[in-house]
Amino acid sequence: MKLVLEAEPLGVVVVARCDLRMDGCTATEPSPVTIVRVGAQQDQFVVCRACLEKMIQEGEWSVRGARINAPVDFVLKDSLERSMVAIEVKSMPRTRALNIERWGSSIRRNLAAHAALPGFPYFLLVLVPEVGLLWSNPDSEYGDAPDYNFDLKELELEDDPVPLEDGQGAQEWAARALDALLTGKLHPSGLWWTQSGLGKAIEGGRMKRLPA
Ligand SMILES: [Zn+2]
Repeated sequence: MKLVLEAEPLGVVVVARCDLRMDGCTATEPSPVTIVRVGAQQDQFVVCRACLEKMIQEGEWSVRGARINAPVDFVLKDSLERSMVAIEVKSMPRTRALNIERWGSSIRRNLAAHAALPGFPYFLLVLVPEVGLLWSNPDSEYGDAPDYNFDLKELELEDDPVPLEDGQGAQEWAARALDALLTGKLHPSGLWWTQSGLGKAIEGGRMKRLPA
């Protein structure tokens, strides 16, 4: 019988080389990685998200509690199958008094605490029906403000308006918009797409939808 070790991501993100460096590792050079405590001896490893997922998929490690398999809604991979963009789709908060960028930062910090983000160069938060927030510097602190803030209308295809509410409709819409970005049907002109390098980074890539 195979022994499955219990692994506990500590929610601590550091910049280092991944200890595992398996196929598809995103931190073979110093990159954001998370600290994981493993087994009865509580050995500590720093691992990238890709290797952490792989260890879980291959049944080497189990993670209790953390929503480690489906922490974000979508992942965009580049042409070399590297995970480039983590995407979360949510509703705009109902209160207008809230600072939207600060609110977005708290979502990002919370995902990071569940080891959902290390290893992704970009994080895109889609706040239906209005705003997209993009973090394009993986070395920024998880509480930092987004690098770009853009109007979701930039992701609208003809006759496919942004849905008003979060939920299944919003997920489906986001999937169509992301597909349009990847297949070149959408050409955003905003700096979030051009200046951030995001457009180039995912050229020839593909979308992966994670189970809810
Ligand atoms: Zn790794």
